[in-house]
Formats: sequence, C-alpha cells, structure tokens
Amino acid sequence: MNLSSKTFCPAPFVHMYVHKNEDNKLCCETMENEMASPSTETDLEKRWKSDYYKNIRQQFLDGEEPDICSKCFAIEKHNGISDRIWLNRIYQDILEPNIETGNQYNSPIDLDIRPGNLCNLKCRMCGPESSSQIEKETLQHPDLFKGFHSQDIQHRGCIFRKES
Ligand code: SF4
Repeated sequence: MNLSSKTFCPAPFVHMYVHKNEDNKLCCETMENEMASPSTETDLEKRWKSDYYKNIRQQFLDGEEPDICSKCFAIEKHNGISDRIWLNRIYQDILEPNIETGNQYNSPIDLDIRPGNLCNLKCRMCGPESSSQIEKETLQHPDLFKGFHSQDIQHRGCIFRKES
C-alpha cells in the first residue's frame, strides 16, 4: 500500500468526527454538506465499517483526491500545511491501513467529538455551529454573515443545523 502517495490521508483509517450540529462528516475539513450525501449512519461502529468509509479509504489507497477533501488539496496547492499533511506526519510510521477495519486495531484511534457549540470564544476561523458566541452575533447581524457557512444552515432555537 502506497502511504507515501501525494494524496493519501490517514483520516478515514484512524479518525472519527462527531458533531452534534453537523452532518456525519469524515473529519472537520471535509465538505460533505456541499459536495456529497453525508453518511446517515448514527451507530458509530456501523459507520466505521460502512461503505461510505470503505469507499473513501479505497480512493486514498488508489491515489485519488476525493471531492470532499478539496479544502486540504487547495491549501496544499498554495503551499500550505493541510490537516492531511499533519495526519501523515503523525501516522506514517505506525498505521497499517485496512479497507474493512480501518487499521490494525479495528477501531478509530482518534476521536473529534463535539457535543454542542457552547463556547466563550469567537475565533476567526470558527463558525456558529461550534461557537455559541459567533452564533449570538450571527443572530444579531444576519446580513453580515450571509454565506458565512452552508447556505442551507438555519437556526432552530439556539442550535444551527442543516435542513433535512
Ligand atoms: S484529506 Fe483533509 S479533508 Fe480529507 S479526510 Fe484527510 S484531513 Fe480530512
């Protein structure tokens, strides 16, 4: 398996992203909302073994650039350091990739779990789905935030969600 290919990413082999206010994305950088039907599987074990994960793993092992990963590849084309590059630095010597099980341990190795958007900060790179402070400002000044995130997002109560 060619882990040193210019497009390989360890994320679907080691990582799981779970966000209360977003669809089931593969990692925080993937663009399922804009580019593909996200996985609808809520059982995390089933999701890890789903065709959705297996297909992305296969694409990375085949040297492809999955559409949902366009953010990382755009960063790299401008000589930036993407999450893909960071993950390769961490996992290149220890990962034994497997299409079915993800890796030699048969489970995710790192989890990004975000149970809500309660936050005291308003970091520039963040959004209303992950910061209640930005959400508050978005509700106060909706015009300033037009197109800030997916246009499909609208608030329900104090939580931003994608319309089903
Ligand atoms: S290439 Fe980037 S966007 Fe795609 S799974 Fe890896 S870290 Fe996430």
